[in-house]
Amino acid sequence: MKKTVAAILLAAGSSSRMGGVNKMLAEIGGRDPIDICVGVFSRHADSIVIAVSDATRPAAERAAANVCVPVIIVGGGARRQDSVMNALLAADADLVAVHDCARCLVSDEVIKRAIDSAREFGSGVAAVKMRDTVRRIDTGETVDREGLYLMQTPQCFDREKLLEAYRRLDGDVTDDAAVWQTLYGSARLTEGSMENQKLTEREDLEFFERLAGKRTMDMRIGIGEDTHRLTEGRKLVLGGVEIPFRLGLLGHSDADALIHAIIDALLGAAALGDIGGHFPDSDPAYKDISSLVLLERTAELIDSRGYSVSNVDATVTAQEPKLKPYIEEMRKKIADALGVGVEKISIKATTPEHLGPEGRSEGITARAVACIIGV
Ligand code: MG
Repeated sequence: MKKTVAAILLAAGSSSRMGGVNKMLAEIGGRDPIDICVGVFSRHADSIVIAVSDATRPAAERAAANVCVPVIIVGGGARRQDSVMNALLAADADLVAVHDCARCLVSDEVIKRAIDSAREFGSGVAAVKMRDTVRRIDTGETVDREGLYLMQTPQCFDREKLLEAYRRLDGDVTDDAAVWQTLYGSARLTEGSMENQKLTEREDLEFFERLAGKRTMDMRIGIGEDTHRLTEGRKLVLGGVEIPFRLGLLGHSDADALIHAIIDALLGAAALGDIGGHFPDSDPAYKDISSLVLLERTAELIDSRGYSVSNVDATVTAQEPKLKPYIEEMRKKIADALGVGVEKISIKATTPEHLGPEGRSEGITARAVACIIGV
């Protein structure tokens, strides 16, 4: 079975070098470091534990409300290691990824490399090789760079083993790799990144803001298409709206081809498979179900992976009936199911000039594209 991962996000520090500003509450690209880290780690972890101070608790609660993975908030301690200990005791997973929220520019790749290493070898710690000349200013001695690394986070470990090392710890440490080393030897290093800096001084804010602005958003698009046959004795439901017509669409659910196309576009954007995999038509639970319910569940799934819906555009191909009078209601129902504003949803209808199966009113086809953005 795949090992579960809990992210331990540390946000209880006192920001002693920030000149009176709590760095956890600073704004970088319009968001605070806790919110940014919770969003990124929700894509890699099954659960999140945030260690907070009284000052940072409200920010952690706000961030927790934005993701679908379970989030536990614990009080931090006086030292970093006390906060980690509290979080380790609250975490329930095979592996933990301990991360300082001050490193809020951490990338998906850095996180993934560290977690993958922990999965395989029991430890994985983001670090970068020392590049610059290091010199002791008192003696003038140039330190040999060989074997010198800058330790970053996340630092990922087998949870039980790390907890044991923390329990036996006597004295002060600065990171988890040092704790691990006391019992198990050197932790395995994985490639960190020069961008994965720690927000430390007030002057850093401008640098962070600039770097955050330059980063490419994780913007993804997906495509979906669905056709259902028109038949007598069925209701015609499109975009969640019941439309008076002599024929209706045939299918296991309400056969709402428009919503099915949108669901496939959203799942496609997140590379989460397709509608048949998530809501199989062999499952009696979905018999005659409103596709709006399936759309809501799809939105939850997308959200749980740390994405939000940017926009949806869809076209329905139908010879008849005329769909124009129902378009506004469809947009509203779809927007409500997705939890977004109606301005993000575009629905269009086209008639196929009596050509093809849609032109002969044998069926209705819908096509959709969706754009989602990593949050
Ligand atoms: Mg369908």
